[in-house]
Amino acid sequence: MSTRDWYAEGLRFQCQGSGQCCVSHGEYGFVYVTLQDRRNMARERGMATREFTREFCRKEDGVFRLIDGADQACVFLKDRRCSIYKARPTQCRTWPFWPETMSAKAWKKDVATFCPGVGKGRLWTKAEIDEQVAEQKQWEKALTRGR
Ligand code: SF4
Repeated sequence: MSTRDWYAEGLRFQCQGSGQCCVSHGEYGFVYVTLQDRRNMARERGMATREFTREFCRKEDGVFRLIDGADQACVFLKDRRCSIYKARPTQCRTWPFWPETMSAKAWKKDVATFCPGVGKGRLWTKAEIDEQVAEQKQWEKALTRGR
């Protein structure tokens, strides 16, 4: 099996609600949000997008991210649960299937070591995983275009 095919048989992953990925760690520190993410979240909270952005986001280097809550956790993490789960941002929805985590090495080092959902629950097929990665790639493009 080539290194590119390391997840050809799919991967088991099911969120265990640990909240671990909602707390800042190193390069995976912030929750970045596109305009579409902000629109979805604002709608969920019954707010105008502009109002939501002003209250919950900060712009750094031309990109919006959610502000931190207590202890470097996401502002929407309450009692180790996402309080905006239905409308959570794309990067939260596609986790852990990101372009930068989908190498055998990064998966082992950056994902499996701290995410208790890895190896649990349902089996994601390679096609499903690739779909998530593709969505995340599109999202990254939108983010860097300032959308
Ligand atoms: S929006 Fe929800 S899922 Fe995403 S980091 Fe914040 S609490 Fe976690």
